[in-house]
Amino acid sequence: MVTLVNSSDTLIEAASGTWEVLVIGAGTAGCAAAATLLNDGYRTLIVERSAFPRAKVCGGCLAPAGADGLHQCGLGPALSRSNPRSVDRIEIVTRGFSATLPLPAYRVIDRSKLDRNLIERVQQLGGTFVDSTSATVRADDSVVLTRGTERTVLTPGAIVVADGLHGTALSHRREFDWVVEAGSHVGIGAIVDAFDGPATDDRVRMFTSAAGYLGIAPLAGGASVLAAALDPAAVRTLGRSGLLHRMLDESGVRSEALDGIRWQGVSHLRRHRRRAAGGRVLVLGDAMRYIEPFTGEGMSWGIHCAIRMAPFVRDLLEGRPVGPSWHRSCATLLRRRHLTCRLVGATIRRPRLLKPLLRLGRTRPIGRWMSRKVCWN
Ligand SMILES: Cc1cc2nc3c(=O)[nH]c(=O)nc-3n(C[C@H](O)[C@H](O)[C@H](O)COP(=O)(O)OP(=O)(O)OC[C@H]3O[C@@H](n4cnc5c(N)ncnc54)[C@H](O)[C@@H]3O)c2cc1C
Repeated sequence: MVTLVNSSDTLIEAASGTWEVLVIGAGTAGCAAAATLLNDGYRTLIVERSAFPRAKVCGGCLAPAGADGLHQCGLGPALSRSNPRSVDRIEIVTRGFSATLPLPAYRVIDRSKLDRNLIERVQQLGGTFVDSTSATVRADDSVVLTRGTERTVLTPGAIVVADGLHGTALSHRREFDWVVEAGSHVGIGAIVDAFDGPATDDRVRMFTSAAGYLGIAPLAGGASVLAAALDPAAVRTLGRSGLLHRMLDESGVRSEALDGIRWQGVSHLRRHRRRAAGGRVLVLGDAMRYIEPFTGEGMSWGIHCAIRMAPFVRDLLEGRPVGPSWHRSCATLLRRRHLTCRLVGATIRRPRLLKPLLRLGRTRPIGRWMSRKVCWN
């Protein structure tokens, strides 16, 4: 457990505060929301189901837009403290063919470190944080908090649900049910200290195939972040290791260490909620919608929606229902990004289409143009 200023020792103590806003989930989206709302003077409690710091399935590549967003909401110091490694190249490999393209300076980070530093910064901004605490939003918008044997009920003025793809906060609210898209990949990730495989220290490497992709990104200090999105049918047929080995084999690469990795997994990635707001609830980040990790911008999507949150929270606190306007605001912000991400996702599943595009991208001006179009600068 992280013990810091403003960290509540017991749940009862946390519950005794009068909270204008409760943020559920202390990932990048929840922390950005908390910081934004604290900057506007709202009394904010953040609850997190895991004991912090916790691991998170993520490629750890923060797009320039995401880094700007963290600075905008006052979380810049947390990013700097996380020892980010800048990379400005990506090598995309498909069936033995490889092309290295320029990237607008992405930062590679270990999510457990980043998220710990973010929540510490949120606490410095005046937020109160309780970890190892699971929140469940009831039909009347009261929230049950459970931590070990302790249990308490809160009725905050506004509830920001940023509990990610495997969140449980809305499991009793059918109107927020997930809609999972057909053909959705599943995700896995790990941080590996010494990887004998195709890691490099100056670029992100992406191994792609019709059945998914594996990304390898260098962290400062020598470790590598591995993250993959895989076709669940291919995983069932070949097994996780079998599929990953096949993807590397196709490019003439071998790794003994691959079999010993302790992967963490997440289920179907392409999905959204039936609604993003209702009662006193606003849904944010992966908990609202997720598509594909290839363009490395899921963190940035949640951060930038969080930055737009304050007027919607104010409406709720002043008794005005939010309705579909919250979803519209996020959809307008992210429409082009989501479309780009879908197009890229569809292209990389088709090596025959991808190869000629990569060949073009090897020409410097075209590679730079592609990178500007695909990445969120
Ligand atoms: C394979 C893969 C690779 C990726 N690579 C990248 C990348 O390179 N770059 C990038 O920007 N994005 C990447 N992403 C996406 C990125 O990880 C997510 O978009 C981002 O973490 C979403 O942040 P979040 O705050 O919405 O959710 P999360 O970071 O998942 O945080 C949600 C938190 O809520 C907590 N929680 C859940 N339920 C409850 C509850 N009931 N009560 C209290 N707390 C609860 C969880 O413990 C968790 O800590 C990747 C995703 C995958 C799957």
